[in-house]
Amino acid sequence: MIDEATKQRILDAAKIEEVVGDFVTLRRRGVNLIGLCPFHNEKTPSFTVSPAKNICKCFGCGKGGTPVNFIMQHEHLSYPDALRYLAKKYNIEIVEKELTAEEMQARTKRESMMALNEFAGRYFVDQLWKTEEGQSVGLAYFRERGFSDAILQKFQLGYSLNQYHALADEAIKSGFSSTILSDVGLATRSDKGGMVDRFRGRVMFPVHSLSGRIVAFGGRVLVQTDKSAKYVNSPESEIYHKSNELYGIYFAKESIVQRDAVYLVEGYTDVLSMHEAGIQNVVASSGTSLTQGQIRMIHRFTSNITVLYDGDAAGIKASIRGIDLLLEEGMNVKVVLLPDGDDPDSFAKKHNANEFIDYIKRNQVDFIQFKSGLLLADAGNDPIKKSQLINDIVQSIAVIPDAITRSLYIQDCATRFSVRESLLGEAVQKLRQEKMVQKPAQPALPTQHATPSAIVPIEPEITKQSGSDLPYTYNQEQVIMRYLVNYGKQTLSFFDAESNDMMHFSLADYIDLMLAEDDMPLQFPLHRQLLDEAMHTDQTDLRNYFLNHTNLSIQNYVFSLIEDKYEHCRTFKEEDAEKLSSQLSQEMPQVMLEFKLRTVKGRLKEVSEAIKQAQVNQDNDQLASLIQQQVHYVHVQQQIVDSLRESKIQRF
Ligand code: ATP
Ligand code: MN
Repeated sequence: MIDEATKQRILDAAKIEEVVGDFVTLRRRGVNLIGLCPFHNEKTPSFTVSPAKNICKCFGCGKGGTPVNFIMQHEHLSYPDALRYLAKKYNIEIVEKELTAEEMQARTKRESMMALNEFAGRYFVDQLWKTEEGQSVGLAYFRERGFSDAILQKFQLGYSLNQYHALADEAIKSGFSSTILSDVGLATRSDKGGMVDRFRGRVMFPVHSLSGRIVAFGGRVLVQTDKSAKYVNSPESEIYHKSNELYGIYFAKESIVQRDAVYLVEGYTDVLSMHEAGIQNVVASSGTSLTQGQIRMIHRFTSNITVLYDGDAAGIKASIRGIDLLLEEGMNVKVVLLPDGDDPDSFAKKHNANEFIDYIKRNQVDFIQFKSGLLLADAGNDPIKKSQLINDIVQSIAVIPDAITRSLYIQDCATRFSVRESLLGEAVQKLRQEKMVQKPAQPALPTQHATPSAIVPIEPEITKQSGSDLPYTYNQEQVIMRYLVNYGKQTLSFFDAESNDMMHFSLADYIDLMLAEDDMPLQFPLHRQLLDEAMHTDQTDLRNYFLNHTNLSIQNYVFSLIEDKYEHCRTFKEEDAEKLSSQLSQEMPQVMLEFKLRTVKGRLKEVSEAIKQAQVNQDNDQLASLIQQQVHYVHVQQQIVDSLRESKIQRF
């Protein structure tokens, strides 16, 4: 937590023209400054900065706001992280409050590890440009591969001297401990007790996290021999979980949002060469297949991914398996085969951005079609092989979450393989059911509950709603309803930064307020009714109130809500009112954020369906407005995710 005084100092220091100026080239026009909008593609500048009002606004897409808003949107940061960003820019020291001693220690260790990586990053860059060995070996290598100085600088590429402890010595001289050195894996302790550098005589590729901090390094040998591994990488550590990082994401995220698409390549050098050619929405999996964490990171920015394969890649079939995970996460996956003998690196060297993108556009195929084409060529006329192949495709289709997309693929593949559509459909359905059984049971819907016969003699209408008719926020709404019914009249207290005072609400009012704040109403009509009644009745025991309701459906529903032992929100010792209230005040923001996240995800899905429709109808105006909505929701989603993380951290 950033204390109030520091927050004010940051807000006072941040000048809009300086903050925006770091990302946009601004020219003076009258009392204002103007530049090309960083949030959408435009050729004539409509992004206006007003130093007098200390705000910015794009008259093309409507984005903008205060310096903090701008940083939140541009860097995809939460409010507190945007403040931290600005504090760093203006050299304002932040006093973080309310961390326990343990948290402080964990934090300072992570901070030291990060700081050491920053230090090492700068050191390697210095060695590349300023030492004899760096220039004649490292720089010469990069130049020979065709990387410009601008790219070397942007990605902070460096060189590590061919000595045993050059970096370790330098780091220790600068006050880093040998423990931290071995914690981040930059050096290891030798048998004799001294420190030995991990990277020696290699060109260095720093791996930047989403927020631009160096979490790891990859070091490449200059001359490939059989003995040495081509790349040596930092080991896993507290700050580096390989499966959660993607090479290039920090430099790609803006472009991914703008273009609503990302290219996936294999290697560091592929990313660099594509940037060199002018294509920025590219990330590398670093030679391993994608993990769920990496896919979710990409998915925050776009649903459209195009995988670029080398023309002669022997590994295509192996890597294809990993792609089902992309489908499972609801991404639209396309595949491009580069011409024989080319990888993205070499292809980008021969072509400029337009040619490259044009090639991709003309050659990209839908992943399911690509896979079936590939396998079909393999199977030839062999009926057994062919049926194996169909099963294989069925597996890929079965993981796709969206029913309409699934059925389109089923149609397409039925024609392609000349099998009956219903046969494919059944196979997909069967696989999905098997998967459901394997997965942990979903939170139960009221229909699946034993009828509470003691209270309600007849099965009411509302519990008969079938699963598919339920709104997508149903589960999150149910959690909210459990709190409402159990604790709706309890008082919650929050600190309000604006009035610098405590604010108090009943839990029911708080729910209503949070829903109104983002214009995200409950979607299940009965839930809206429960909330409404809870707010307006004078009775303090809401459980009692609802269980004795004149409407039997409500009685039954509320009974099923509070009777469900497994999905119960935590129960408290109710005599301890103060403790209860403070617990609830801590839990409710998170409960509401979960609901909002689900709502935004649903809206994003609707928008992307509508985009597909608009593309079919070739309705460009509609399309433009939908894409703006999509970008907007992606940002909102990002903010919610960040707030959620923040609130979870604070609760621990
Ligand atoms: P170059 O073009 O210089 O050969 P590259 O980045 O294209 O380099 P690839 O051989 O295509 O390298 O490998 C793809 C990625 O796999 C690399 O960028 C690196 O992240 C990872 N990688 C390759 N070899 C190794 C290795 N021996 N150990 C660990 N990671 C490796
Ligand atoms: Mn390569």
